[in-house]
Amino acid sequence: MVLIRAQQVCKEYQVGEVAVQALKDIHFEIEPASFVSFVGPSGSGKTTLLNLIGCLDKPTSGTLTVADTDVSSLDRASGAAFRGRTIGFIFQDFNLLPVLTVYENIEYPLLMVQKIPPGERSRRVTELLSAVGMADQKEKMPDQISGGQKQRVAIARALVTQPKLVLADEPTANLDHDTAYRVLNLMKRMRDEFKTTFIFSTHDQKIVGEAEILFTLEDGEIKGIQNKGGNGHG
Ligand code: ADP
Ligand code: MG
Repeated sequence: MVLIRAQQVCKEYQVGEVAVQALKDIHFEIEPASFVSFVGPSGSGKTTLLNLIGCLDKPTSGTLTVADTDVSSLDRASGAAFRGRTIGFIFQDFNLLPVLTVYENIEYPLLMVQKIPPGERSRRVTELLSAVGMADQKEKMPDQISGGQKQRVAIARALVTQPKLVLADEPTANLDHDTAYRVLNLMKRMRDEFKTTFIFSTHDQKIVGEAEILFTLEDGEIKGIQNKGGNGHG
Protein backbone atom coordinates (compact mmCIF):
# COMPACT_ATOMS: atom_id res chain seq x y z
CA MET A 1 0.00 0.00 0.00
CA VAL A 2 1.22 3.50 -0.80
CA LEU A 3 0.20 6.70 0.98
CA ILE A 4 2.19 9.17 -1.11
CA ARG A 5 3.46 8.73 -4.64
CA ALA A 6 5.53 11.36 -6.46
CA GLN A 7 6.17 10.89 -10.17
CA GLN A 8 8.41 13.25 -12.13
CA VAL A 9 7.53 16.11 -9.81
CA CYS A 10 9.13 19.43 -10.72
CA LYS A 11 8.63 22.81 -9.10
CA GLU A 12 9.83 26.01 -10.67
CA TYR A 13 9.58 29.46 -9.11
CA GLN A 14 9.67 32.46 -11.38
CA VAL A 15 11.64 35.26 -9.75
CA GLY A 16 11.51 38.21 -12.11
CA GLU A 17 13.23 37.03 -15.29
CA VAL A 18 14.84 34.06 -13.60
CA ALA A 19 13.33 30.59 -13.21
CA VAL A 20 14.46 28.81 -10.04
CA GLN A 21 14.26 25.00 -10.28
CA ALA A 22 13.39 24.20 -6.66
CA LEU A 23 12.54 20.51 -7.34
CA LYS A 24 13.75 18.44 -10.28
CA ASP A 25 12.19 15.15 -11.36
CA ILE A 26 11.29 13.86 -7.91
CA HIS A 27 10.16 10.23 -7.63
CA PHE A 28 9.30 8.36 -4.46
CA GLU A 29 6.72 6.33 -2.60
CA ILE A 30 5.91 6.50 1.08
CA GLU A 31 3.89 3.81 2.85
CA PRO A 32 1.33 4.42 5.60
CA ALA A 33 2.69 4.58 9.17
CA SER A 34 6.12 5.73 8.01
CA PHE A 35 8.46 7.99 9.98
CA VAL A 36 10.30 9.95 7.32
CA SER A 37 12.63 12.91 7.25
CA PHE A 38 13.80 15.08 4.37
CA VAL A 39 17.34 16.20 5.09
CA GLY A 40 19.62 18.45 3.14
CA PRO A 41 21.25 21.85 3.19
CA SER A 42 19.31 25.09 3.24
CA GLY A 43 17.80 25.78 -0.20
CA SER A 44 17.76 22.10 -1.23
CA GLY A 45 13.96 22.03 -1.61
CA LYS A 46 12.71 20.52 1.67
CA THR A 47 10.08 23.14 2.42
CA THR A 48 8.94 23.21 -1.21
CA LEU A 49 8.37 19.46 -1.16
CA LEU A 50 6.46 19.54 2.14
CA ASN A 51 4.28 22.36 0.80
CA LEU A 52 3.41 20.33 -2.31
CA ILE A 53 2.52 17.25 -0.26
CA GLY A 54 0.47 19.47 2.08
CA CYS A 55 -1.48 21.05 -0.81
CA LEU A 56 -0.18 24.51 0.04
CA ASP A 57 1.29 24.76 -3.45
CA LYS A 58 1.19 22.77 -6.71
CA PRO A 59 3.91 21.11 -8.78
CA THR A 60 4.83 22.83 -12.05
CA SER A 61 4.74 19.37 -13.66
CA GLY A 62 4.49 15.76 -12.61
CA THR A 63 1.97 13.89 -10.49
CA LEU A 64 1.64 13.80 -6.74
CA THR A 65 -0.84 11.45 -5.12
CA VAL A 66 -1.66 11.59 -1.41
CA ALA A 67 -4.10 9.08 0.12
CA ASP A 68 -5.46 8.15 -3.31
CA THR A 69 -6.07 11.78 -4.24
CA ASP A 70 -4.19 13.44 -7.09
CA VAL A 71 -3.30 16.63 -5.20
CA SER A 72 -1.50 18.10 -8.21
CA SER A 73 -4.90 18.67 -9.83
CA LEU A 74 -6.81 20.11 -6.84
CA ASP A 75 -7.81 23.77 -6.91
CA ARG A 76 -7.17 25.97 -3.87
CA ALA A 77 -10.48 25.31 -2.10
CA SER A 78 -10.46 21.55 -2.64
CA GLY A 79 -6.81 21.48 -1.58
CA ALA A 80 -7.67 23.22 1.67
CA ALA A 81 -10.60 20.88 2.31
CA PHE A 82 -8.45 17.85 1.60
CA ARG A 83 -5.74 19.15 3.92
CA GLY A 84 -8.29 19.71 6.70
CA ARG A 85 -9.52 16.12 6.46
CA THR A 86 -6.24 14.33 5.93
CA ILE A 87 -3.21 16.34 7.01
CA GLY A 88 -1.86 18.03 10.12
CA PHE A 89 0.68 20.70 9.22
CA ILE A 90 3.17 22.03 11.75
CA PHE A 91 4.31 25.34 10.29
CA GLN A 92 7.80 26.66 10.84
CA ASP A 93 6.35 29.91 12.23
CA PHE A 94 3.58 28.09 14.20
CA ASN A 95 0.59 30.14 12.88
CA LEU A 96 -1.24 30.16 16.22
CA LEU A 97 -4.42 32.24 16.42
CA PRO A 98 -3.54 35.21 18.65
CA VAL A 99 -7.06 35.72 20.04
CA LEU A 100 -7.43 32.14 21.28
CA THR A 101 -5.89 30.59 24.39
CA VAL A 102 -3.44 27.69 24.22
CA TYR A 103 -6.31 25.29 24.94
CA GLU A 104 -8.57 26.87 22.30
CA ASN A 105 -5.83 26.83 19.67
CA ILE A 106 -5.46 23.08 20.08
CA GLU A 107 -9.24 22.55 20.13
CA TYR A 108 -9.83 24.74 17.05
CA PRO A 109 -9.38 22.10 14.29
CA LEU A 110 -11.87 19.83 16.06
CA LEU A 111 -14.48 22.59 15.91
CA MET A 112 -13.68 23.71 12.36
CA VAL A 113 -12.88 20.53 10.49
CA GLN A 114 -14.33 17.60 12.34
CA LYS A 115 -17.54 17.14 14.26
CA ILE A 116 -16.28 15.59 17.47
CA PRO A 117 -18.58 15.35 20.53
CA PRO A 118 -17.59 17.71 23.40
CA GLY A 119 -16.48 14.95 25.82
CA GLU A 120 -14.14 13.38 23.30
CA ARG A 121 -12.96 16.84 22.28
CA SER A 122 -11.88 17.85 25.78
CA ARG A 123 -10.35 14.42 26.39
CA ARG A 124 -8.15 14.75 23.30
CA VAL A 125 -7.12 18.34 23.97
CA THR A 126 -6.30 17.59 27.62
CA GLU A 127 -4.27 14.52 26.70
CA LEU A 128 -2.23 16.42 24.12
CA LEU A 129 -1.73 19.38 26.46
CA SER A 130 -0.03 17.10 28.94
CA ALA A 131 1.84 15.13 26.27
CA VAL A 132 3.54 18.32 25.07
CA GLY A 133 4.02 19.59 28.64
CA MET A 134 1.65 22.55 28.33
CA ALA A 135 -1.17 21.58 30.73
CA ASP A 136 -0.30 24.33 33.22
CA GLN A 137 -0.20 26.95 30.43
CA LYS A 138 -3.55 26.18 28.85
CA GLU A 139 -5.24 29.50 29.71
CA LYS A 140 -2.33 31.62 28.40
CA MET A 141 -2.55 33.56 25.15
CA PRO A 142 0.06 32.93 22.43
CA ASP A 143 1.83 36.26 23.12
CA GLN A 144 2.36 35.19 26.75
CA ILE A 145 4.39 32.05 25.96
CA SER A 146 7.86 31.42 24.54
CA GLY A 147 8.78 30.31 21.01
CA GLY A 148 9.42 26.73 22.14
CA GLN A 149 6.05 26.66 23.93
CA LYS A 150 4.27 27.99 20.83
CA GLN A 151 5.85 25.22 18.84
CA ARG A 152 4.56 22.61 21.29
CA VAL A 153 1.04 24.05 20.93
CA ALA A 154 1.39 23.89 17.13
CA ILE A 155 2.42 20.24 17.40
CA ALA A 156 -0.55 19.40 19.65
CA ARG A 157 -2.90 21.24 17.26
CA ALA A 158 -1.60 19.22 14.30
CA LEU A 159 -2.09 15.92 16.14
CA VAL A 160 -5.53 16.56 17.66
CA THR A 161 -7.52 15.55 14.56
CA GLN A 162 -5.58 12.27 14.40
CA PRO A 163 -4.74 12.89 10.73
CA LYS A 164 -3.42 10.24 8.35
CA LEU A 165 -0.41 12.39 7.64
CA VAL A 166 1.52 14.93 9.69
CA LEU A 167 3.93 17.28 7.93
CA ALA A 168 6.38 19.27 10.00
CA ASP A 169 8.90 21.78 8.75
CA GLU A 170 11.88 21.79 11.17
CA PRO A 171 9.57 20.80 14.07
CA THR A 172 12.09 20.56 16.89
CA ALA A 173 14.21 23.57 15.98
CA ASN A 174 13.06 25.55 19.04
CA LEU A 175 12.74 22.70 21.52
CA ASP A 176 15.17 21.73 24.24
CA HIS A 177 16.56 18.21 24.26
CA ASP A 178 14.05 16.64 26.70
CA THR A 179 11.01 18.26 25.08
CA ALA A 180 12.17 17.26 21.61
CA TYR A 181 12.43 13.61 22.66
CA ARG A 182 9.09 13.76 24.47
CA VAL A 183 7.47 15.09 21.29
CA LEU A 184 9.19 12.49 19.10
CA ASN A 185 8.03 9.71 21.43
CA LEU A 186 4.48 11.01 21.33
CA MET A 187 4.62 11.01 17.52
CA LYS A 188 5.88 7.44 17.42
CA ARG A 189 3.10 6.35 19.76
CA MET A 190 0.56 8.01 17.44
CA ARG A 191 2.16 6.29 14.52
CA ASP A 192 1.82 2.92 16.25
CA GLU A 193 -1.72 3.52 17.49
CA PHE A 194 -3.31 5.36 14.55
CA LYS A 195 -0.94 4.41 11.70
CA THR A 196 -0.17 8.10 11.21
CA THR A 197 2.63 8.91 8.78
CA PHE A 198 5.07 11.63 9.85
CA ILE A 199 7.22 13.56 7.42
CA PHE A 200 9.71 16.11 8.70
CA SER A 201 12.20 18.43 7.19
CA THR A 202 15.17 18.92 9.43
CA HIS A 203 18.82 19.53 10.13
CA ASP A 204 18.33 18.30 13.68
CA GLN A 205 20.38 15.18 14.45
CA LYS A 206 17.74 14.09 17.01
CA ILE A 207 15.19 13.70 14.21
CA VAL A 208 17.72 12.33 11.73
CA GLY A 209 18.50 9.68 14.36
CA GLU A 210 14.85 8.83 15.07
CA ALA A 211 13.61 8.85 11.46
CA GLU A 212 13.26 5.43 9.89
CA ILE A 213 13.53 6.60 6.30
CA LEU A 214 15.79 9.47 5.25
CA PHE A 215 15.46 11.26 1.92
CA THR A 216 18.56 13.33 1.23
CA LEU A 217 17.85 16.36 -0.93
CA GLU A 218 20.50 18.33 -2.72
CA ASP A 219 19.87 21.15 -5.12
CA GLY A 220 16.25 20.10 -5.72
CA GLU A 221 17.02 16.43 -6.33
CA ILE A 222 16.75 13.31 -4.20
CA LYS A 223 20.34 12.16 -3.86
CA GLY A 224 19.71 9.20 -1.62
CA ILE A 225 17.07 7.22 0.24
CA GLN A 226 18.18 5.47 3.37
CA ASN A 227 15.76 2.97 4.89
CA LYS A 228 16.89 2.22 8.41
CA GLY A 229 13.98 -0.19 8.91
CA GLY A 230 12.63 -0.96 12.36
CA ASN A 231 9.40 0.88 11.70
CA GLY A 232 7.50 -1.64 13.75
CA HIS A 233 4.46 -1.87 11.50
CA GLY A 234 5.61 -4.93 9.66
P1 ADP B 1 14.85 24.34 2.06
O1 ADP B 1 13.56 24.23 2.78
O2 ADP B 1 15.55 23.03 1.86
O3 ADP B 1 15.76 25.35 2.69
P2 ADP B 1 13.28 25.61 -0.04
O4 ADP B 1 12.29 24.62 -0.48
O5 ADP B 1 12.82 26.69 0.88
O6 ADP B 1 14.56 24.86 0.57
O7 ADP B 1 13.91 26.33 -1.32
C1 ADP B 1 14.39 25.62 -2.46
C2 ADP B 1 14.79 26.63 -3.54
O8 ADP B 1 13.65 27.32 -4.01
C3 ADP B 1 15.75 27.70 -3.04
O9 ADP B 1 16.61 28.02 -4.10
C4 ADP B 1 14.84 28.86 -2.73
O10 ADP B 1 15.52 30.08 -2.85
C5 ADP B 1 13.77 28.71 -3.79
N1 ADP B 1 12.46 29.19 -3.33
C6 ADP B 1 11.72 28.70 -2.30
N2 ADP B 1 10.55 29.34 -2.17
C7 ADP B 1 10.53 30.28 -3.15
C8 ADP B 1 9.59 31.28 -3.58
N3 ADP B 1 8.40 31.42 -2.95
N4 ADP B 1 9.93 32.06 -4.61
C9 ADP B 1 11.11 31.91 -5.26
N5 ADP B 1 12.03 30.98 -4.93
C10 ADP B 1 11.76 30.19 -3.89
MG1 MG C 1 12.95 25.09 4.61
